Amino acid sequence: MRAYDPGDHKVAINLSANENPYDLPEGLKAKIIGEAGKLAFNRYPDSSALDLRRAIADRYGVEVENIAVGNGGDELLLAMLLAYGGPGRTAASFEPTFVMYSILSELTGTGFARFERARDFGLPKKAFQLARSVNAELTFLCSPNNPSGNVVDEAELKPFLVNNRNLVVVDEAYQEFSRTSVGGLLTYHPNLVVIRTFSKAFSLAGLRVGYLLAAPEVVINIMKVKLPYNVNAFSQAAATVLMQNRAEFDPVIKEILAERNRVFEAISGINGLKAYPSAANFILIKSRRPAATIWRRLLAKGILVRNFAGAPGLDNCLRITIGSPAQNDAVIAALKEN
Ligand code: PMP
Repeated sequence: MRAYDPGDHKVAINLSANENPYDLPEGLKAKIIGEAGKLAFNRYPDSSALDLRRAIADRYGVEVENIAVGNGGDELLLAMLLAYGGPGRTAASFEPTFVMYSILSELTGTGFARFERARDFGLPKKAFQLARSVNAELTFLCSPNNPSGNVVDEAELKPFLVNNRNLVVVDEAYQEFSRTSVGGLLTYHPNLVVIRTFSKAFSLAGLRVGYLLAAPEVVINIMKVKLPYNVNAFSQAAATVLMQNRAEFDPVIKEILAERNRVFEAISGINGLKAYPSAANFILIKSRRPAATIWRRLLAKGILVRNFAGAPGLDNCLRITIGSPAQNDAVIAALKEN
């Protein structure tokens, strides 16, 4: 196996990991540190993360039994495969997409069926039939899709939900930027699982908290495979405060969306570059020239973006996270010079 490579470099402008460019609003950070000060660090955290799960359940108008939390969304992807995958079982996905689906399938001995997305990165027309042809116990659909930025719509999802007992996991890590969600379908479809994270819009990548919305049976099965104290006490407290104060992120999200439009227009105007429309906080671009050259030149200027060199379906593609206006100006200027 090969380890996941986050492509980290120490740079002035890191636009490679789809993080929020801003740390938490000051008042909120102080509040979290205040809460953390009340914790007894000698004690294990609440293994069922009840306060955090209740805050999330309240937000969605569902029950605590519909929510599981993990050490990042990544851990919940792993938990899904531990619970429902394994030798003799198959997971399916449509590539290019988030690489952890295949990495974690391999790790858990789950067969992994990779199907190709269409040229515009949409799902293929008969996506569900393809997943059914390999009898996939689990299908991973990323929406908005990392790295292409497009969303799965309800019509595409429906065949996976109706007359089908196998699970479909919709990874909505970037949902706050797309403002569309398939979460409303959870009430009617117990084979739907939605994964979200605090790492992106909510500026909490460093504290590692993700959550999952699903039928109680799925949550019970996640509880069987997760490590007892998977989310530490500090992170539970922080995420609880954030969930209760999420409206404070509205201005930042709004700015990122406006900047996404500006960056998209600017890159679309550069000769030799094509930008794909995105519903997330990143933009995939394809260049006529070798992307590796552009990537190196950006790095020389202290700007790190994600290079997909060699990844199937992503020839000469780079993914650029939307940063602060000044960071975006820098990357636009650097791309113009290339
Ligand atoms: N899903 C997708 C599509 C992602 O891009 C990421 C972050 N790279 C994750 C899940 C996991 O994020 P985290 O573990 O930080 O919650």
